[in-house]
Amino acid sequence: MGEKIIPLADHRYLAAAPRVPSLLEPPTGRLSDRRGRPLRDLRISVTDRCNFRCSYCMPKEVFDKHYQFLPHSSLLSFEELTRLAGVFVAHGVEKIRLTGGEPLLRKDLERLVAMLSALRTPAGRPLDLTLTTNGSLLARKAQALKDAGLRRVTVSLDALDDTIFRRMNDADFPVADVLHGIEAAERAGLGPIKLNMVVKRGTNDQEILPMARHFRGTPVVLRFIEYMDVGASNGWRMDEVLPSAEVVARLDAAFGLEPLAPAQAGETAQRWRWRDGSGEIGVISSVTQAFCGDCNRARLSTEGKLFLCLFAHRGHDLRALLRGGCSDAQLAGAIGQVWSERSDRYSELRSSLPAEQAGHGGPRVEMHYIGG
Ligand code: SAM
Ligand code: SF4
Ligand code: SF4
Repeated sequence: MGEKIIPLADHRYLAAAPRVPSLLEPPTGRLSDRRGRPLRDLRISVTDRCNFRCSYCMPKEVFDKHYQFLPHSSLLSFEELTRLAGVFVAHGVEKIRLTGGEPLLRKDLERLVAMLSALRTPAGRPLDLTLTTNGSLLARKAQALKDAGLRRVTVSLDALDDTIFRRMNDADFPVADVLHGIEAAERAGLGPIKLNMVVKRGTNDQEILPMARHFRGTPVVLRFIEYMDVGASNGWRMDEVLPSAEVVARLDAAFGLEPLAPAQAGETAQRWRWRDGSGEIGVISSVTQAFCGDCNRARLSTEGKLFLCLFAHRGHDLRALLRGGCSDAQLAGAIGQVWSERSDRYSELRSSLPAEQAGHGGPRVEMHYIGG
């Protein structure tokens, strides 16, 4: 018999299968972690591959032609994903975001969207089903995604200037194609569209005002994201972070802003509106203003590992339970136990951590693998 070859990628991140409790209680939809936070939001990474090489996420020097992405057999199938999602929904998840890598690279994604959109909360409501994309394939896929039951999309766009945009995506991808994708999504009814711009001081902060000017007065909600120290390959430095307070100050000086109340608990963005009534923007201050206090988000990696925090060192291998023959009740018991033991709050602790654990020192999970 030949030697069994275990793909290297499977060892990429530490993850043990969670324990299945011997006493199984049915999910109540009211899970709570050690800090009293419920589980409401599940982000599912459907692929670890991407056609962009944004330097803050998948720098080309690391993610080159030698990099081993996960083999197809490691990925959760749509059936496995839907089954797991159903268990999370029974535990109280109301919102599912598909992400990646670039989620639109996953073949037949519309089929997964259709399967997930059939799920209902315990109260019988449909899920808030959304997707984050770099927009490169959106013009082609927006209508099919809408028809399959997707509600909204979030598009990432870091610059309007074509030269800066091509440099940032490092795949020479033109900004015009992403703008067409946004228009197609609007036409298909996938709005109101949120637009994420990661701001890197000295790289694209000169694009803050042009982006604001372009999208003011449209239904698109532009959100400025602080460049984060996710993963261990982007060479993060604090001096490249432009604090949201400075973004707000620049926008206020140019156009006039006033704060808005949060729409719902656990929201990552602080909302502001233009004083002249031409819409709203958001800022996501993951570095300068921690929002772990009401973080209700869980993340499922492309190969079915559950991460309780974007900055986690280890996951919980749900694929092992799925493929090991666990029942839904057993899966629910294991997930419930993991969440009830959660105490993660990395962003709150960042500034007080020893240097080797803060910034880009730790062996943390990469963004393209668990999504944003
Ligand atoms: N490929 C899709 C996209 O770019 O929208 C989905 C996956 S991407 C990992 C999800 C979000 O994470 C994007 O909006 C991206 O800009 C953001 N992101 C990635 N690396 C980041 C970093 N170091 N700091 C802040 N945001 C980051
Ligand atoms: Fe790809 Fe999105 Fe990461 Fe950019 S941020 S490299 S588009 S996964
Ligand atoms: Fe949630 Fe972790 Fe981010 Fe805090 S650092 S908001 S716990 S994902």
